[in-house]
Amino acid sequence: MDNHNHSHGTHKEYSLYELNARMDACRVDPRVKDYLSRCIAFHTFPAPGLLIGAFMVDYALELLGAVPGTDEKLYAVCETQKCAPDALQVIAHCTYGNNRLRIVDIGKFALTINRASDQDVAEGVRVYVDPRKLSRFSIIHTWFTNSPDFDKKTMTNPLSDEIFSAGREILSYERVRIKVEGKKAWKSVTCPKCGEMVPDYSLRSDGLCAACGAAGYYETIS
Ligand SMILES: [Zn+2]
Repeated sequence: MDNHNHSHGTHKEYSLYELNARMDACRVDPRVKDYLSRCIAFHTFPAPGLLIGAFMVDYALELLGAVPGTDEKLYAVCETQKCAPDALQVIAHCTYGNNRLRIVDIGKFALTINRASDQDVAEGVRVYVDPRKLSRFSIIHTWFTNSPDFDKKTMTNPLSDEIFSAGREILSYERVRIKVEGKKAWKSVTCPKCGEMVPDYSLRSDGLCAACGAAGYYETIS
């Protein structure tokens, strides 16, 4: 799912206005339309995986009987880092920053949502793109399998149409039990090399912070 080599301007992909009209034509529920619009705005473009992700989150919320934007805290796991996490962030308010979104990069287009639990486990709903159902939707299938037959120039708009029309029809779900990760106790420690502070559990076994070890991602230039 190569969503990131999209080239704007060289060919006519749907404008936001046109996308909105296509959602209506494909009878997308107004609730999901709103989700889709907010997801696209956040993500900055209507990536197919994002559109499918919005349907997935909507489905999972309904199965949970959860209403997003209420006081209730929801937790999510996304099994891919591609696109779908943004649907969880925007719709379910499970974000990286509030620590209610976990990405387990299994490489599957699947996600799980659960409520808060004071137990060691929580019951949740896992929604996934079901290969058995995908066969009925040839454009989605071609894109999803990263087939060379997928022609970005001519098939991007038909793909959006097919995603809007398919909605949940490419999805399946299962009820699952998830291990709840409790809050870790920690104290602040100072890295002896850079002098900056990190939680003790972030120190490497040699006593340095990760940046002073192999995870350093920058060189200071001034
Ligand atoms: Zn350091």
